[in-house]
Amino acid sequence: MTNEGDVSMLSKPLLDALNRQINHEFHSAYIYLSMSAYFESINYSGFAHWMKKQYEEEMEHGMKIYGYINERGGKVVLESIEKPTADFKSPLEIFTLAFKHEQKITGTINDLYELAVKEKDYPTQVMLHWFIQEQVEEEKSASEIIEQLKMVGEAPAGLLMLDRQLAARS
Ligand code: FE
Repeated sequence: MTNEGDVSMLSKPLLDALNRQINHEFHSAYIYLSMSAYFESINYSGFAHWMKKQYEEEMEHGMKIYGYINERGGKVVLESIEKPTADFKSPLEIFTLAFKHEQKITGTINDLYELAVKEKDYPTQVMLHWFIQEQVEEEKSASEIIEQLKMVGEAPAGLLMLDRQLAARS
C-alpha cells in the first residue's frame, strides 16, 4: 500500500468490511423487526414495542456507516439481507437469541476496529469508538431483560408486568 497516511481514502479491505458491517446492522434490524412481529402476534405489545425500537436503532447504525463511507468518498454497495427466523418459543428464548446476536455483532465491530488499526486508518478508528461503546449498552440491556425474565419464569402476572415496563422504552 502506497497510500499510508492518506486519511482521505479508505483502503479496499476496509471499505469492503464497512460495507459488510452495513449488512450486519440491517440484518440485525430485520431480526428485531421479526421478533417484534412475533410479539405482536401473541399480543405482547410492550415486548413488541421494545423490539421495534431496537429495529429502528439498528437501521440508524447501518445508516451511520452508510453516511461515513460516503463522507470518505467510498462507494456503498448493498447486499441482500438474510431471512430472519419468524417463530419463537418464549420471551426468554427471544432475548437470549438477541443477546447472542449482539455478542456476534460486538465481534464484527472488534474485527473492523482491528482492521482499521492495521490499515492505520485513524478516522475510522474514531468513528468506531461510538460503536464499541454502543455494543456495551446493547449487551447490557439484553442481559438485564434476560435476568428479569428468569426471575419471572412462566408467571403470567410477571410477564405482563415486564411487558408493561418494556412498553415505556423511548
Ligand atoms: Fe447495531
